[in-house]
Amino acid sequence: REEFCVKINTAVEAFCVEGEIVNYKQYGNGHINDTFIVNCQKNQTSKRYILQRMNHEIFTEPEKLIANIESVTHFLKTRIQEKGGDPERETLNLVYTKEGKYYYKDSIGCYWRMYNFIEDAASLEQVRKKEDFYQSAVSFGNFQRLLTSFDASKLYETIPDFHNTPVRYQTFLKAVKEDVCNRAASVKKEIDFYISHKEDMELCAKKLADGALPLRVTHNDTKLNNIMIDNKTGKGVCVIDLDTVMPGLAIFDFGDSIRFGANTAVEDEQDLSKVHLDLELFETYVKGYLEGCSGSLTDMEIEMLPYGAKTMAMECGMRFLTDYLQGDTYFRVHREGHNLDRCRTQLRLVEDMEMKWDEMQKIVLKYR
Ligand code: ADP
Ligand code: MG
Ligand code: MG
Repeated sequence: REEFCVKINTAVEAFCVEGEIVNYKQYGNGHINDTFIVNCQKNQTSKRYILQRMNHEIFTEPEKLIANIESVTHFLKTRIQEKGGDPERETLNLVYTKEGKYYYKDSIGCYWRMYNFIEDAASLEQVRKKEDFYQSAVSFGNFQRLLTSFDASKLYETIPDFHNTPVRYQTFLKAVKEDVCNRAASVKKEIDFYISHKEDMELCAKKLADGALPLRVTHNDTKLNNIMIDNKTGKGVCVIDLDTVMPGLAIFDFGDSIRFGANTAVEDEQDLSKVHLDLELFETYVKGYLEGCSGSLTDMEIEMLPYGAKTMAMECGMRFLTDYLQGDTYFRVHREGHNLDRCRTQLRLVEDMEMKWDEMQKIVLKYR
C-alpha cells in the first residue's frame, strides 16, 4: 500500500502539468484501470487531469496500446479542428511526460498515462432516459465518421483476434472436445445451437475477408459510461476509454452496444422470459448511430447492422459457454452455472432477434 502511494507520487510528478500539483485522489467507476484525478493550480485558476495506471494483466503491450491512442487522438484532433469544433473537449488529449513520452513506466514495471480532464461533463453508469442511449449512439457514430479516412490497418491489434468469431469458434470446438469438467453432455442444447449456427456466426468475418465490409477503426468497449455527456446540454461530448481501439468492423461496435444496451434483462438473468430485444431502444440507437455516422458507412454496413448485433450476442454467448466448459477460468463467477446462465441469456436474445428480424431490418432502412 505504502509502496503504491510512493508510485502514484512519482507518476504524478513524471508528467508535464500546468501549475503546481495541489492533490490527487482515486476517481470514477472504471473496472479496468486505476484512475486518479489530479488537481493543479496556476495563479488563480485550477486545472485538472486524469491519471491512469494501465492494467497490464489485460493489456500486455502497453506501449502499443498508447501508440494506438496517440495516433487516433491526434487524427481526431485535426478533424475536429477542421470542422471548427473544440479539440480540447471533443477528444481525449494525452499529456506528455517530462521525457517527452505519453506514458511513464515506474520502477516496478507499471505503466501510467495522463489526460486533460474533460470539464463540465460526466460519464453515466446507467441510462437515465432514452435520450442518454441516443446520445451515446450519436457519439460513437461521430467517432466512426471522424475516423473514416484513418487507415485502420496501421493500428496494433492489442488483443489479437478479439472479435475474430471463426477463431473463437475453433476455441469453442476444442473446449467441447476436451470437455475437462465433464459438462458437455449437460449443455448439449447450447452446443448444438452453435454447431447449427456456424455459418451464420462466420458471415461477418467472411465479408471482411472478401472485402465486402471495410476494415475500420473500432472502439470495442462501446458502453454508455465510455461517453462524456455535457452537464448542461445533456449531449454527448466525447468518446473516452480508448484502450481497446483496434482494427475491426463498425457493425461489431454497433452490435455490441445493442447486445448490452437494448437487452431488457441483465446479462446473467436466470428467468429467460425477461430477456428480450427492446425494439424501441434498438430504433433509438440506430437513429443516433446513423446520424452520427452521417453517410460514412457503406450500404452493406448499414444493411448488416442487425447482423452485427446478432453476431455479437452469439459470440458473447459462445465465450461464456466455452468458459463454462473449461471450468470457469476466464470470467469471474459468483454462483454455480453462472457462465451457463450468461450464455443462455445471450442465446435467448439471439432467438428474440431472429423473431424480430424483419422489424430490425425495416428500422435500419428507415434511417439510412
Ligand atoms: P476504465 O477502462 O477503467 O473503464 P476509463 O478510461 O473509462 O477507465 O476511465 C474511468 C472513468 O474516469 C470514466 O468512466 C470517467 O468517469 C473518468 N474519466 C476518464 N477519462 C476522463 C477524462 N479525460 N476527463 C474526465 N473524466 C474522465
Ligand atoms: Mg471505461
Ligand atoms: Mg476500459
